[in-house]
Amino acid sequence: MKLSINQVVKQSLAFFLLSGCLVFTTNAQETKKRKPIIDVHVHAMGGNPNGSPMCPWFLKDMPGGDPNQDPPAFMSTDCINPLQPARSDAEMDAAILRANEELNITMVVSGDAKVIHRWHKAAPDKIIPSLGISNADQMTVEQFRDSLSSGFYKVMGEVAPQYQGMSPSDMSLDEYFGVAEELGIPVGIHMGTGGNGTINITRPAYRASLGQPFLLEDMLARHPKLKIWVMHAGYPMADQMIALMGANAYVYVDLAGFIWSYPLEEIHDYLKRLLQAGFGKRILYGTDFMMWPELFETSIQVIESANYLSEEQKRDIFFNNAVRFFNLDASKFEK
Ligand SMILES: [Zn+2]
Repeated sequence: MKLSINQVVKQSLAFFLLSGCLVFTTNAQETKKRKPIIDVHVHAMGGNPNGSPMCPWFLKDMPGGDPNQDPPAFMSTDCINPLQPARSDAEMDAAILRANEELNITMVVSGDAKVIHRWHKAAPDKIIPSLGISNADQMTVEQFRDSLSSGFYKVMGEVAPQYQGMSPSDMSLDEYFGVAEELGIPVGIHMGTGGNGTINITRPAYRASLGQPFLLEDMLARHPKLKIWVMHAGYPMADQMIALMGANAYVYVDLAGFIWSYPLEEIHDYLKRLLQAGFGKRILYGTDFMMWPELFETSIQVIESANYLSEEQKRDIFFNNAVRFFNLDASKFEK
């Protein structure tokens, strides 16, 4: 390729500006700690030597399939730089601790109890343990009450009756919600989508219709002091989500999962819709982190790059709204 003098000058200038910017960014990061982030939706699990890489925003293409052929892939690995999974427990633990320290992320964590204890031990101020239950066979109401009363668990979640073909207002879960209400424990409930071909590939009992935010209303009416957040923001049912939040002042949403799986335009449209409807103070930041350490940066970037959000709105989503929802002490994050 032949370059004219003009092009050479332009390119050198671009390089100079770019390298100048990089130097500035590095220095700024070294001297200033990143502002705190609260990720309300992290799943605790060990590393997996057979874990699949993942291309963010892979649901931009859902071609479907045929019942007589192999089911379509759940995720895509067809991109230039797929995110790699943590392949051992040590790799996973190190990735979480790095996110706690370098990215200054405090996490609400549910899942494998052993892993939660391990992560909590490594960073007690940055890990908020959460106890999930999605059907009554998992533990009795008494066991659930004892676990919450021990003080280790501060949150109830992820509650995901939708995957079991059950409404969140199903009476079999009602006493558990009653315990959370009585103890003042906030609850995170999965409402929304479950991925490409969920029913065909992984969860035959799952029903898309059981993710409708309105299904929460009967349960909320039975527990007027319960504080819940709707995980995945009830995507894509914005109308129901907006009506539910309008009628129920203690309901918040999180952005987990769909912000790195659906097409970016779609994600921003949904987020804008919630903001435009007046709920900027009730949107919590979350990733639905499972196994790909770089997912933390990928997800943060979605919010940081949203040019329709003011700095104040970004800080609300990343931090302030969660401090308010979980009754945390903001001054403790300044250390
Ligand atoms: Zn979920």
